[in-house]
Amino acid sequence: MHVVVMGAGVVGVTTAWYLRQHNHDVTVIDRQAMPAAETSRANGGQISVSHAEPWANPSAPLKVLRWLFKEDAPLLLRLRADPAQWRWCLRFLMECTPARTQRNIREIVSLGLYSRRSLGELRQSLGLHYDDLQKGILHFYTSAAELEAAHAPAQVMRQHGCDLTFVDADEIVRIEPALRFARREIVGGSMTYADESGDACAFTRQLAQVCAARGVRFEQNTTILGLDQSRGGIGGVRVRTADGGYASIRGDAYVVCLGSYSPAVLAPLGINLLIYPAKGYSATLPVRDPERAYSVSLTDDEYKLVFSRLGERLRVAGTAELNGFDLELNPVRCAALVRRLTELFPGACEPGEAVYWTGLRPATPSNVPYIGQTRYRNLFLNTGHGTLGWTHSCGSGRALADIVSGARPEIDFAFTGRDRHAGPAPYSAEALARAH
Ligand SMILES: Cc1cc2nc3c(=O)[nH]c(=O)nc-3n(C[C@H](O)[C@H](O)[C@H](O)COP(=O)(O)OP(=O)(O)OC[C@H]3O[C@@H](n4cnc5c(N)ncnc54)[C@H](O)[C@@H]3O)c2cc1C
Repeated sequence: MHVVVMGAGVVGVTTAWYLRQHNHDVTVIDRQAMPAAETSRANGGQISVSHAEPWANPSAPLKVLRWLFKEDAPLLLRLRADPAQWRWCLRFLMECTPARTQRNIREIVSLGLYSRRSLGELRQSLGLHYDDLQKGILHFYTSAAELEAAHAPAQVMRQHGCDLTFVDADEIVRIEPALRFARREIVGGSMTYADESGDACAFTRQLAQVCAARGVRFEQNTTILGLDQSRGGIGGVRVRTADGGYASIRGDAYVVCLGSYSPAVLAPLGINLLIYPAKGYSATLPVRDPERAYSVSLTDDEYKLVFSRLGERLRVAGTAELNGFDLELNPVRCAALVRRLTELFPGACEPGEAVYWTGLRPATPSNVPYIGQTRYRNLFLNTGHGTLGWTHSCGSGRALADIVSGARPEIDFAFTGRDRHAGPAPYSAEALARAH
């Protein structure tokens, strides 16, 4: 079977890899010159099964209101005259109930555990190196109330297999001595030893090279204009090619991995995905003083920032802004990242050397991605991975490749278009939207 994968971010490339493992012919289409040139380019680097508490949780509505007009808020909602944003926000509010939050944590942990295991297997079998570190993720708190509030979701995560341990401030500094300058601020935290970190872009590009060496075709600089229907399915992808011409790329099956741009391509087919771009920022700086620089991947709860060590570079990433597809760098938000980095790790790096980046997380209201089949018999989704696309990429790609190949995925997950107990069942577009 010839499978056309749309999108060469971390999700598209892992999907292509696992499809090739099933012996399919695979073509990947992307508008950029290289894989991982958009949201998978410079993210926080964390493989964080422990980040399973979704943005939509019982405490979220109040927090979002409090942050509404704060320019450097961790989650900033800029209300627009945009029906897609309002629909998304409404659904987000519905996902904030305790029952929905628990259900979503379950899905996110289940996919995360499978994905982390799949990434480890892939790294070993292919000998991939992407500044990866298997040192765990340390989540620290500077507010006693927030630390206390973290116990309930942690309990749910543990029930589903995420092995997370609460640690006091002294233990935190023992695990990551570079946090010694911030010792007085920290009230405690949690450590997940099995979590990891690494450069998602380096991983994606290396895996793309391995895929290409094994026969996967990459059509880069090729913009997808739309999908053509044919007899209850999809008959081709209309594209503008690298040389400016127009063509149709045909396959037997099609997989949408277009991140935040997936809804635009699918809407003409009557598939209305609830994915909205959540803009985030990162700063990457060379290490100046290794004695003062961290190597364990960290999460700063108060500022909702993540820190990863990528070889001789430090990366800090975070913040989320719901404001459409704008990709301009906001200097206030850039400065906030490096200010916090230098507060916590004085002398570790030189702020003037920061390289800033921004990307659009393809966020669903529940943080649960769309993985599975649509009502078009040969059209599949692997998109909407939001804050955890790097963490979930290998598991999502592997499970989706199983579904395309008619096999049962190894994990129990709320796959799109598939009843947990009854096997594959195409959904209507309305049901697709309702499922999230
Ligand atoms: C600041 C920040 C920090 C993050 N930190 C982490 C983290 O620590 N851990 C984690 O797990 N996740 C993290 N994420 C999330 C993660 O980066 C994303 O979920 C992931 O990169 C999404 O991958 P993707 O392949 O779905 O999308 P993308 O990487 O955006 O890939 C989509 C591809 O589709 C292509 N495309 C789109 N439209 C078209 C078109 N019309 N024609 C042709 N091609 C098209 C694009 O060029 C792109 O290559 C972070 C995100 C941000 C923004």
